[in-house]
Amino acid sequence: MSLDVVAIRQQFPILQRTVDGNPLVYLDNAATTQKPQAVIDAISHYCTHCNSNVHRGAHTLADEATRLYEAAREKVANFINAFDKKEVIWTAGTTESINIVANGAKQLLKAGDEVIVTEMEHHANLVTWQQVCKVSGATLKIAPITDDGELNLAEFQRLLCDATKFVAIPHISNALGTINPLSELIPMAKAVGAWVMIDGAQGIAHGDVDVQALGCDFYAFSGHKFFAPTGIGVLWGRAEVLCDWPVWQTGGEMISVVTYESATWGELPNRLEAGTPNIAGAVGLGAAIDWFNTLDLEAVKQHEKRLMDKAVELSATVDGLIIKGNAANKIGVFSFVIEGTHPADIGFLLDKQGIAIRTGDHCAQPLMQRLGVPGTARASFSIYNTVEDIEALFIALKKVKMMLM
Ligand code: PMP
Repeated sequence: MSLDVVAIRQQFPILQRTVDGNPLVYLDNAATTQKPQAVIDAISHYCTHCNSNVHRGAHTLADEATRLYEAAREKVANFINAFDKKEVIWTAGTTESINIVANGAKQLLKAGDEVIVTEMEHHANLVTWQQVCKVSGATLKIAPITDDGELNLAEFQRLLCDATKFVAIPHISNALGTINPLSELIPMAKAVGAWVMIDGAQGIAHGDVDVQALGCDFYAFSGHKFFAPTGIGVLWGRAEVLCDWPVWQTGGEMISVVTYESATWGELPNRLEAGTPNIAGAVGLGAAIDWFNTLDLEAVKQHEKRLMDKAVELSATVDGLIIKGNAANKIGVFSFVIEGTHPADIGFLLDKQGIAIRTGDHCAQPLMQRLGVPGTARASFSIYNTVEDIEALFIALKKVKMMLM
């Protein structure tokens, strides 16, 4: 089955708009994806008809809101193949999910322990672990990458030892699109008894996450990278790990018994979810999953590959264009520089032609230093992008080159 991209595009109202009189070509999906009408409608329906606080109300609206909210949790659990829906913790996004795990690790780690991250981290998964190590006295080890932006597996293996207590790695690099070989990396880390957390901010975007098959302990992602609104995300964790993980925030909803002197914590998932949650966001994420589930996953994958192949093919037509990362092991993210130009100028001049990309360090300053560039231009694709979008990018890039050279 092939993907009916025309029909998909019609479901995304924003794709009909223009920028400076040009049709919008949206190629900034690694930053955030657009929302289909089904998601917009689900949020609107919730706010129009069922808005209420969840879990504690004694009235119809509260019941309806709670049912929608918990149904969304179940949808996430099924989508990522969690063992149980109580393993799905609502958060504000990947950054908060990572911080919840890190907050616990800060209390559990001690001097002599080691944490491993990689050279390709987003700041959310680098700075957070840096701070954990500073506070706990643990040592941060950085697993090196090759010049092609791939994790060096031999070096990763060499870093693993009895002292390794935590390994935090990205599923897919937001700056390069590199797909990390999780099915090799996770067993290697588990073999030394480390907790393993996957930063799935970019992994979720491709809709093919199976946490049971991965064998990690935690998987973090944001709804907004998967057709849902901003401000909602997920921390998935194994129940047996999460049920003892130090609590994050304290307050309403997460407690069991409270006296003036002390408090005890509730069960999962509540113990890690203090306060009134982002109910409309959760409903939106549930709707995004329903919407995505109507598509054929194999067709989605083939389409994404076709877009990347086209970008790689056309890059040979622009003199001086250098792809960053290994073109053969990428998904969704096409990062490049053009000799003699600055990425910020490329982004500005593409925008004038209606083409939205991102430029800069992509929240990965140390990675840019490692690659020896100040930043890159990054075009990132989603399922509603067409081969024509990629062609438009390259036609526009040739004009940009003429303007800058
Ligand atoms: N990690 C990666 C790999 C990302 O791409 C991002 C978002 N750019 C994040 C973490 C942080 O996600 P958020 O800003 O949604 O919390």
